[in-house]
Amino acid sequence: MAAALGAPVARLRRQLVEGHSELTPRRLIPSDLRSRYGWTPSAISQYRRKGTLPAADGLEGSRAWWWEATVNNWENTRELHWLECAHAFVAAAGLKEHRTRVHAR
Ligand SMILES: [Zn+2]
Repeated sequence: MAAALGAPVARLRRQLVEGHSELTPRRLIPSDLRSRYGWTPSAISQYRRKGTLPAADGLEGSRAWWWEATVNNWENTRELHWLECAHAFVAAAGLKEHRTRVHAR
C-alpha cells in the first residue's frame, strides 16, 4: 500500500536525520537527501532534472549542495508523503506515479 501520511513527516524526518553531525549553517549533499527522504541516487537526479528539488545553492567540484535552510523551506512548502512500502518520501506527483507504477494491477 502507498500510505499517505501528512502529519508524521517532521517526526519521521527527525528519526531519519538523527545521528548526523551538526555543523552550522549546515550544507546538505545528495547523500544527505538520500538518508533524509529515502531517495535513490536516480530519484535525486530525476527530482533535480524535473525541478522538483530547488536548484543547488552551490557546487563542490561537480557535487551539488544545498543549505539546510533551503531544503527545510522547500520541504515546508511541499506536500510530502511517506511510502511505507518503499521507506521513502515522495511529492504528490510522485505518489500518483508510485500508485500507478508499483500498485497497478
Ligand atoms: Zn506503495
